[in-house]
Amino acid sequence: MHDANPTAPSALHPDTVAIVSGRPPHEPDQPMSVPVHLTSTYVAGGDLEYGRYGNPSWTAFEDTLGALEGGRCVAFASGMAAIAAAFDLVEPGGTIVAPRHSYTGTVAALIEREEHGRAKAVFVDITDTAAVAAASTDAAMVWFESPTNPALEVADIAAIARAAHEHGALVAVDNTFATPLLQRPLELGADLVVHSATKYISGHSDVLMGAAVAASDDLAAALVQRRSLYGAIPAPLETFLALRGLRTLPVRLERAQATAQELVRRFAGHPALDEVRYPGFGAIVSIVVRGGAEPADALVQRTSLWVHATSLGGVESTFERRRRWPLEQPTIPEGLVRLSVGLEHVDDLHRDLVAALDTLDSLG
Ligand SMILES: *Cc1c(COP(=O)(O)O)cnc(C)c1O
Repeated sequence: MHDANPTAPSALHPDTVAIVSGRPPHEPDQPMSVPVHLTSTYVAGGDLEYGRYGNPSWTAFEDTLGALEGGRCVAFASGMAAIAAAFDLVEPGGTIVAPRHSYTGTVAALIEREEHGRAKAVFVDITDTAAVAAASTDAAMVWFESPTNPALEVADIAAIARAAHEHGALVAVDNTFATPLLQRPLELGADLVVHSATKYISGHSDVLMGAAVAASDDLAAALVQRRSLYGAIPAPLETFLALRGLRTLPVRLERAQATAQELVRRFAGHPALDEVRYPGFGAIVSIVVRGGAEPADALVQRTSLWVHATSLGGVESTFERRRRWPLEQPTIPEGLVRLSVGLEHVDDLHRDLVAALDTLDSLG
């Protein structure tokens, strides 16, 4: 891509964009980072007016994530708040097509909407492009998660977006697992991207936040309107921390991905495992423990580095047996343990997990 202005974000690599976007100007006495503005209101007559309408920390975060995804970003209080705002774009009674192995909260929100007659939910196997295209013929929105959580299925976003657009459906992608560094859905034809910024973007297991990134100004305005009206706003300090996390996302993800790939290689064929699932990119790996729930529950209690905890995308390696959640789909194996590979040394992570797996082995 040729750009007249060599410092325009589009001319820069994502690693650089993550560092330079959302900064005060390079002028004497300007701070390096936009400070945290703890205020509920602003002196009247400007753009911000009131804390539910705007905050300088939101703008800095939104400019940065928006530049990385290639769209207009709107920050929300959590991933689910962003997802709810996206679902609200569908007129009452409209059909939303979604992967059957979506994040449990997403599935629960769709079912809740259906129960109250607010939407119709159609769950599909997102790897079956023809079936998803067929299901989207009378959809108002086609929702993706790719890779899916925790099955790690991958969708052909470009093909499905083309089919969905032929029928006038909005195409939205939950890009939490891949992040804009590994997958840019707006470039593949999606209208909207959502994130649980709680995960990789913040990256240190200390923040809950969400974001939606729209391809068009109209869609972004509709999301801002929902946020302003209903108040699912992120706190200034959380937004500051999320942006600080986003600055190091490229290096964190590169390291975590390299470690994940090495662990996948080392664990392939381990006798205590039925399966090692990995989509080929990212730092989430799902292992299926032989024997189901009981040995998998034992495994997550027998490590010292790997922490048994839900959530993912932090610097700390965490893991959990997903079926411990009643809402998790019955098509997810009982013994599936989702690993979120962090930034510890690969040899330490490997030794810790292999020692725990070997105790299962000796149980027979
Ligand atoms: C965690 C998660 C969410 C929900 O985000 P919160 O920040 O917890 O509200 C949505 N989608 C995916 C893929 C997630 O992993």
